[in-house]
Amino acid sequence: MSDELSPLPEVGDLEVDATLRPRNLAEFVGQPRVREQLELVLEGARRRGDPPDHILLSGPPGLGKTSLALIVAAEMGAAVRLTSGPALERAGDLAAMLSNLAPGDVLFIDEIHRIARPAEEMLYLAMEDFRVDVVVGKGPGATSIPLDIAPFTLVGATTRSGALTGPLRDRFGFTAHMEFYEPADLERVLRRAATILAVDLRPDGAAEIARRSRGTPRIANRLLRRVRDFAEVRADGAVTRTVARDALAVYDVDELGLDRLDRAVLSALVRSFGGGPVGVSTLAVAVGEEPGTVEEVCEPYLVRAGMLARTPRGRVATPAAWGHLGLVPPPDGAA
Ligand code: ATP
Repeated sequence: MSDELSPLPEVGDLEVDATLRPRNLAEFVGQPRVREQLELVLEGARRRGDPPDHILLSGPPGLGKTSLALIVAAEMGAAVRLTSGPALERAGDLAAMLSNLAPGDVLFIDEIHRIARPAEEMLYLAMEDFRVDVVVGKGPGATSIPLDIAPFTLVGATTRSGALTGPLRDRFGFTAHMEFYEPADLERVLRRAATILAVDLRPDGAAEIARRSRGTPRIANRLLRRVRDFAEVRADGAVTRTVARDALAVYDVDELGLDRLDRAVLSALVRSFGGGPVGVSTLAVAVGEEPGTVEEVCEPYLVRAGMLARTPRGRVATPAAWGHLGLVPPPDGAA
């Protein structure tokens, strides 16, 4: 997805993200439920002297899943190894990673729903019995050699927990469902980032950026950096409400924080398909995107903002969506 204000990370963001990442649970803003649950999981493990149960983090992109995985390791004083589902195409790659783990290590697998089948099956045994079966040779002469591995904690992240197979999901001892952040929490994220980046962020400026950040800390931090550019180039450096508004207008972020792709989806739904219902694949073709991106990146926030409904017959625009585009829904209740 090309929109630079999307919740997906961009190469240039990764370094700044690393600076702004909360390093422990106390620094991790918002998500009170997940924080409380995780605190208990970690404290229980600490008292028993065991690695924590395997943890699944589920939710839309940019809500802090990677940050939480790193925090789990930091809180346990453990090392963390990072990989992703698509990178584990061959079971041999996973076997190599697993057999190199030290006791207590955290293995983080991002996009775990995209892991290839053979690697997934290897993971079952590793998660349950801390063992891998390494297959040596090919054809009828192939033998499988069981290999003990160190007790470890798997932290998996997914934007689509529904796409995980039952056996994999069942092997996680704890699933954290990450929610979109409230504006007040995003203000705290922004204040923290402004201190680290030495930005003169005023309270009304923080409130304005928070309100338009799609409930997503990664977007809040990215908008802050764009507004800072504007403040330094076109104003006196202070990020006030007016500066934030003017800057965000330049970057096509609307009053609700919807970006270009969000608006394209709503506009196609309303203008090309009369408000729906329409299937997600058809909608994705209409806006020139992958169905997965529309489904996992755009839709969760549009649903949460009350603009779009997912029904068994397809996606439907709500009256609020028509209103947001400055249109009136048809009287026959199509919306
Ligand atoms: P993805 O699923 O795309 O990997 P993510 O959900 O793992 O995204 P992170 O990479 O952890 O998201 O978070 C993105 C950035 O947002 C972090 O670098 C950090 O700056 C900020 N951030 C996320 N969550 C929080 C939080 N709770 N408190 C403070 N900052 C946060």
